[in-house]
Amino acid sequence: MIKVPVEIIFDKIKQKTNLSDADIKVKIKKKLDQLSGLISEEGAAHIVANELGVKLFEDIGQLQIKNILPGMRNVEVLGKVLRIYDIREFETENRKGKLGSFVIGDETGVIRILAWNDKSQILEKLKPEQIVKIENGYARENNRGKTEVHLGDRSKVLVNPAGAKDIQTGGRRKNISGLQENEDNVELLGTIVQVFDPRYFEICPECGKRVREKEGKWVCDTHKEIVPSYAYVLNLFLDDGTDNIRVVLWRNQAQRLLQKTDEEIVDYKDKSFEEIKNELLGKIVKFVGRTSKNEMFGRIEFIPQIVIVNPDPEEEIRRLDEEVKKVIQEKPMEGSVEEEKEDYREEVDEEQVVSSTEENNVPRAEKTDKIEPQQASDDEEESSTNTDEDEAEEAQDNLDEEILSLEDLESLE
Ligand SMILES: [Zn+2]
Repeated sequence: MIKVPVEIIFDKIKQKTNLSDADIKVKIKKKLDQLSGLISEEGAAHIVANELGVKLFEDIGQLQIKNILPGMRNVEVLGKVLRIYDIREFETENRKGKLGSFVIGDETGVIRILAWNDKSQILEKLKPEQIVKIENGYARENNRGKTEVHLGDRSKVLVNPAGAKDIQTGGRRKNISGLQENEDNVELLGTIVQVFDPRYFEICPECGKRVREKEGKWVCDTHKEIVPSYAYVLNLFLDDGTDNIRVVLWRNQAQRLLQKTDEEIVDYKDKSFEEIKNELLGKIVKFVGRTSKNEMFGRIEFIPQIVIVNPDPEEEIRRLDEEVKKVIQEKPMEGSVEEEKEDYREEVDEEQVVSSTEENNVPRAEKTDKIEPQQASDDEEESSTNTDEDEAEEAQDNLDEEILSLEDLESLE
């Protein structure tokens, strides 16, 4: 069964019938009482929709990403390629195969596409920023509660399909001052105003778990004495004029922000990070990610999942133009968006002046370099097959997060 949130079923019933909100609520409540303990609220809403002859999914057609729900088959979706992960081979007790995956985005959100076995060859044709159309995918919920689209034998991926226009991607843009706990797919644009030294911690190269020093030797609970690998986290403050927030970049995101490889970053463990800090200060960056409450310090932090190092100023100005139009249509002009736009132009100008004087021999990054394709290192591959077949990278970042948050939060600063 397709897992449809009760709000969506509610809206469908409202659209297709003349029932009021209260009527629909009563009907769902009655059904729940009738079958008490046997079904969820979603289940009850499903039955009510059925009884009223409201089809939840007729002629689904092309879906926006936010409307893709676990259980859907024949999923058709158009999106822009944001990230491409390396193809991984895996072997478990029951099966052996290959898995490639990539992330696409549209105006409404981002979603991961998983290409199993032979389908993983598709990844060789993909490049970041391309528009792709997925046909006949099937949607599933992964073990972290996120919806993903899987590609099976009948699925197709069309690169730059005829007639496709460019797609504006990204999360919901928010001001830092308006951020709440547990928000997902939020986009922030701001200036890096403070950077801390990265924090390194020793992990087992076999299983990726934190290791301990015992009598001068590094010991993993499972793999005994080992030569440690390193995981790391980079903390910084981002300011967008409304407020600032601590941003926590785990391994892969730190690599993207610094545009350095894993080895290069590990190298800084024993040398000064000052020069890199100075390069980062004042840089305008775009992050898409989630907020997380740091219980120990009672503050909200931001965990990026997408890092865009050189946000395209044209895209920003286009976005603001669209917002101006929306504001004009919806309510009387308040002027704030225009001001924001001017501010942004100024910031961009300033940045370009700085970059042309300080790095005049270094060409500005091309648009296509904005999003780095994933560069997983060997040890990441190995440890990730232990966590799960999918979401390897995110799982690794989350593992890093858990390991560190449990043990070392106090010494982060
Ligand atoms: Zn181990």
